[in-house]
Amino acid sequence: MKTIENFDFKGKKALIRVDFNVPLNEQFEITDTTRIDAAIPTIRKVLKDGGAVILMSHLGRPKEGPEEKFSLQHLTGYLSEQLGVIVQFADDCIGNQAREKASALKAGEVLLLENLRFYKEESVGDESFAKKLASLGDIYVNDAFGTAHRAHASIAVIAKFFPDNKMFGYIMGNELTNIDKILKNAPRPFTAIIGGAKVSGKIEIINNLLDKVDNLLIGGGMMFTFIKAIGGETGSSLVEKELLEVAKNILDKAKEMEVDLYIPEDTVIAKNFSNDAERKVCDVFNIPDGWMGLDIGEDTAKAYADIIMDSKTILWNGPMGVFEFSHFEAGTKAVAEAIGEATQKGAFSLIGGGDSVAAINKYKLKDRISYISTGGGAMLEYIEGKELPGVKAIGY
Ligand code: AMP
Repeated sequence: MKTIENFDFKGKKALIRVDFNVPLNEQFEITDTTRIDAAIPTIRKVLKDGGAVILMSHLGRPKEGPEEKFSLQHLTGYLSEQLGVIVQFADDCIGNQAREKASALKAGEVLLLENLRFYKEESVGDESFAKKLASLGDIYVNDAFGTAHRAHASIAVIAKFFPDNKMFGYIMGNELTNIDKILKNAPRPFTAIIGGAKVSGKIEIINNLLDKVDNLLIGGGMMFTFIKAIGGETGSSLVEKELLEVAKNILDKAKEMEVDLYIPEDTVIAKNFSNDAERKVCDVFNIPDGWMGLDIGEDTAKAYADIIMDSKTILWNGPMGVFEFSHFEAGTKAVAEAIGEATQKGAFSLIGGGDSVAAINKYKLKDRISYISTGGGAMLEYIEGKELPGVKAIGY
């Protein structure tokens, strides 16, 4: 894998595609700096070598042209503090100002370009836009795993202008190395826990995992589509009717492939979708009319925790219930804690997807997990076996 690790950036200008898509509040303050923090080691490496850094990123989904609330200018203060240098800013990612500032940049200096998505050319993968960006630096570094599954100009197209000078940053390198640990020769037993709201976004990952895992634990809103598919009464729980057949096929395929696929036995049901709704525990196949399942029950949580504790490789994507509501978070919390404990006992655990990562942070278990992926969609696509445009462009 071609990474920045063994490259000397002395005297070079590194054009780094980062994922600085951070949330901003009404005052344009950054409310979660995780994505910026993650990219700091890559930036520092270039500066330490005696190189200069040009950073490019998207922020949010601007519709047409520049918008104050999506300006990367709001990030310069925090970034300067973290790096210990005043980060310069070009208020257009291409054009004269960007060119002049990039060309005047000296070793040890950092220039941040304005939001790439202020140009629709970014998202459509426009080649001449990519070429203009490419002209700003000597070396292209991709460290934006969160967008590696997008065929955008700064991700997939730009690399061709650096045939011999393109490489992965530390985030990309770490992501690929760690996800490969579960895709290639994972120590057994290998358990995948898949939850979240809907089956629709998870079909391909489940299908691709069936020939890799020993145990597949299903939870979250998506469990009710499986339960309905095998004749259960699901009340007003979330069910994707058009996917009943697909769910049935997954169950059949799991049996054929001798994967132990687990569906919850009990569920915490509620009268409506609210934390304070009337609630009770019931058998997952007999949810009364007018009630909806919002979490896995205690027996299921315990059974899942036992399986997790006996595993050597663990992949978790998607909460077991509506963990944002304190009355329906117990299942997600139990699973998260079991993963933390299994990891302390020596298992390798990989967690990805915005909501599972949020859960791990909520329960303060971050330090008990082997690797937390920064890219939900990109991680899922990589595990699904798809070639990511950002990975292909560099070559791996
Ligand atoms: P996803 O983005 O598909 O991983 O879904 C995550 C979301 O699923 C979280 O916001 C959870 O609140 C939600 N979720 C989990 N379990 C349920 C459930 N039983 N019913 C409705 N939503 C759920």
